[in-house]
Amino acid sequence: MQNIKAFKDQLSQPRKVVILTHFKPDADALGSSLGLARYLKKKGHTVTVITPSDYPDFITWMTGNEEVVIFQKDKPERCAKLVADAEMIFCLDFSSLNRINELGGMVREAGAKKVLIDHHLYPEKFADFVQWDELSASTSGLVFELIKELDEESQVDEGIANCLYAGLMTDTGGFRHNNTTQKEFLMASELVGMGANPSEVARLIYDNSTLERLRLTGYVLSEKLQVLPEYRTTYMTISSAELKKFGSQTGDTEGLVNYGLSISGIRLAVLMYDRKEEIKLSFRSIGNFSVNEFARKHFEGGGHRNASGGSSRLTLEQTLKKFLALLPEYQAQLNQP
Ligand code: 5GP
Ligand code: MN
Repeated sequence: MQNIKAFKDQLSQPRKVVILTHFKPDADALGSSLGLARYLKKKGHTVTVITPSDYPDFITWMTGNEEVVIFQKDKPERCAKLVADAEMIFCLDFSSLNRINELGGMVREAGAKKVLIDHHLYPEKFADFVQWDELSASTSGLVFELIKELDEESQVDEGIANCLYAGLMTDTGGFRHNNTTQKEFLMASELVGMGANPSEVARLIYDNSTLERLRLTGYVLSEKLQVLPEYRTTYMTISSAELKKFGSQTGDTEGLVNYGLSISGIRLAVLMYDRKEEIKLSFRSIGNFSVNEFARKHFEGGGHRNASGGSSRLTLEQTLKKFLALLPEYQAQLNQP
């Protein structure tokens, strides 16, 4: 952080702090938020973590989870008051305020000092303090680095270490994606030294599904996965009726898109599903094809070069049609060696 000294000064007295993360938070979003929350609480600050929406059951084991305020579930007025009264607002794992819906406007208007900690492309300039690095594999890693910059490593206990390790593990796809560098392994090693339990965290996140979720995965892979060899592309669509049939819960579609990319020779994988308010899209790519540019340009989204998301207000059928019609434009790019 560039102005780390001023940041330290800000934290030199007990503050009312709000930590916000993105809609439908994943393990990095929640892990970085709860890890940071626990650290700040240990330092005597009053901290509330607010999420715009609910999140999957397989991340609710994280320390401090029981105190999270969910905007959609709890009273929005309560969140508005927390944001308005806060002295410091931390925004974690998202780069623009529109990703937190109505909360975005509240943050923009709030008098608090704002802190952005994130690794997504094209960050919006709204924060007084910024810990941003697109090359960092996870926001949890950036929180860990910030704690180190504050010379506070000794504060990292088992609870914090497990939260941050979870974010690091999942945003690297279990230390498999191309954002996994020596730095990520060193960080993992340090966190394990501080109490993180790799096998337990992996089990809680990856082997903690309901039978319905596994059945949905099986159904989508056998019935819905489509391959377009000429575009080196796979796609899957899931309607709301299909989600309902499998009793789908928040998080049940997480990771599904990666199966599309596991077929040899495929460069682009897409998942689109009906999330009631909108159609949600997940994009993954291998190599130079930037799904970030693609999602930004065509589906009001963004993220990272090889992993991005977006949304569409069209129907599922129309969204698919729009996507398929775009492919010829990208055929040459997708077929580059
Ligand atoms: P996922 O496909 O797993 O939902 O998201 C992949 C990546 O893209 C994550 O880093 C996520 O934060 C980002 N992302 C997902 N949906 C959106 C979106 O609608 N807008 C933007 N800007 N980023 C998104
Ligand atoms: Mn992240």
